Formats: sequence, structure tokens, C-alpha cells
Amino acid sequence: MKKKPTAARQPRAGKPLIGKLVIFGVGLIGGSFALALKKRRAVAHVVGVGRSRANLLAARRLGIIDEIATDPALAVKDADLVLLAVPLGQTRAVLAQIAPHLAAHTVVSDAGSTKRDVIASARRQLGATFSRFVPAHPIAGTEKSGAVAAFAELFENRNLIVTPEPETSARALKLVTAAWKLAGMRIVPMQAAAHDRMFALVSHLPHLLSFTAVGNIAGYPDGAKLFQHTGGGFRDLTRIAGSSPEMWRDICIANRDAILAALDGYLSDLEAVRGMVEASDGTALAAKFAAARGARAKWIKPH
Ligand code: NAD
Repeated sequence: MKKKPTAARQPRAGKPLIGKLVIFGVGLIGGSFALALKKRRAVAHVVGVGRSRANLLAARRLGIIDEIATDPALAVKDADLVLLAVPLGQTRAVLAQIAPHLAAHTVVSDAGSTKRDVIASARRQLGATFSRFVPAHPIAGTEKSGAVAAFAELFENRNLIVTPEPETSARALKLVTAAWKLAGMRIVPMQAAAHDRMFALVSHLPHLLSFTAVGNIAGYPDGAKLFQHTGGGFRDLTRIAGSSPEMWRDICIANRDAILAALDGYLSDLEAVRGMVEASDGTALAAKFAAARGARAKWIKPH
């Protein structure tokens, strides 16, 4: 019996997985996705739609996109895959712009850092086409933004969380996961609510702590002097405070409830540490730090 081909890790010679790919938001994530697919010869033509002309020109110059489109309706014409890689606050407007112009075969997906709000928006804006919408979140990134920050290897050996809904078509899910696998990702399916709680704890909360740590020092009258004396610890804690303020504002609004729960848990933990410091309770402090160091050694592998 002839063996059936397995998952699309390698596109067939001469026939790319995706004919026309349209990317809304050709920044770090959207740009890196296009570059990764181009590197694997998995896409024939990439169209970029954006808010900043300068960024789109840079993307075309860097070979990330082949064409700049200014009209979203024309851009998505005959597209095989449309990827939204815009700040979360832009999702609803982009979906509303493209919804009436999507062909019957076009699959739509996103890369947003939260999933419940994106799914709610897509369900409302796309109507029947919602079955061809695949909610996804690549767990890869840097603190840099824009097309100039994009690189083809960003997603290699990282997880792509997909949060399909009961309506999501198997064909749409297969196309999107095949594309991200070609970009080097492992596919991890999850419920949207579980995703939003998990990333509130392990990503959104640490970013808020980092932004706040920098803002806190900057707020002291002698802030400039304090910054001159920061060392490696402060640098490590605050690297991610170099991230896009717009992106993080939108994440806080989109994932409000899960972030509030994560903040409450953290604040009560911090309050306990404050109590230990106030009481000069060296035993409790040492136990707390040893447990944290042990957990870090067990779970966070060095790069
Ligand atoms: P980015 O700032 O590098 O890129 C976003 C791009 O979207 C910019 O070029 C901007 O001009 C463009 N844009 C803004 N509004 C638009 C609109 N209405 N139409 C078309 N383009 C528009 O940001 P990024 O880091 O690539 O993040 C993009 C998305 O991916 C966000 O939803 C973010 O939550 C998600 N994400 C980011 C990371 C990360 O670490 N940076 C990781 C995973 C997921």
C-alpha cells in the first residue's frame, strides 16, 4: 500500500503551501512569519498592509513583503491566508474592514497575545466566516518592534498556542498549523480561557513588574543618579520594559480580569515578603528565596 504523506513539514517542490499571504501589521511577529515562510519557500507572494508607510517601505526593502497594499479590501482579494499581527486594540477594526471582502477559501488567523477578546471580536465581525478564523499565539518575541526587528529564525523550537473554537474548520486549522510548523514551531492546543490565565501569570504580570520597576526609579527626584548606579540585576529585570507601550496597553485592556487576578496573587505574596523584612525574619526570607531559587533551577533552563 502506498504510504500517505505526513504533516506538512516540507512543502512539495514547486508548490508552496500558501499562494498569497496577506499580513496586517508587518512588525516583529508578522515580518518574522513572512521571512520564515519565505526561507522555506512555503509562500509565493506576500502582501503587507500597515499603518506606517515608512515601516512598509522598510519591509519591502528587506524582502519581507513583495507588495504594499493601501486598501484592505483589495489586499485580501484571493488571499489564501490573512494574518493579523497588529496591536490587540486594532483587531476589531481590521476584521471589520476585511470581513465583507474575504473569498470563500480564505483562511484568517492572528498572533495576538490574548485569545478570548480576539475570538469574541472575530465571532462578531466575521459572521459565518468565523469558521475559517484560527486563533493563535506564537510564544516567541523580543522587546524590539517593527519590520527592522524581524528575523526568520524567531519561531524556531518555540510553541504556537492554538485555541480553536467548536466552529473552527479542520481545513483552516491544518493550513495555519502547517505554516507555523514550517516556521519551526511546535503546536500546542489549549482553551482560550486557560491561555489567558496562563499568560497573565507568566508573561503579562512580569512585563507589568518590569515597566513598574523602571517607572518607580524614574519617579524619584534623584532618579537620574539612581539609574547611573544600576547594575546587571536591574538590567536583567527590566530588559522587557523596552517593549512597545501600545502593545502592552492593549494587552492589559484585553486581558483585564486575568491580569487583575495575577496582580492580586503577586501583591499578597509581596506583602508577605514585606512582613518578613519588617520583622527581620531571616529564617523566613532565606526559605522564601531558597524555594524560588530551587524552582528557577528546576524549570528555567539556561539558553
Ligand atoms: P510590532 O509593533 O513590531 O508590529 C505591529 C505592526 O502593526 C506595526 O508595524 C504597526 O505599524 C502595525 N499596525 C498597527 N495598527 C495597524 C492597523 N490598524 N493595520 C495594519 N497595521 C497596523 O508588534 P509585534 O511585536 O509584531 O506584535 C504584533 C502582535 O503580536 C500583537 O498583537 C502582540 O500582542 C502579538 N505578539 C507579540 C509578541 C512579542 O513578543 N512582541 C509575541 C507574541 C505575540
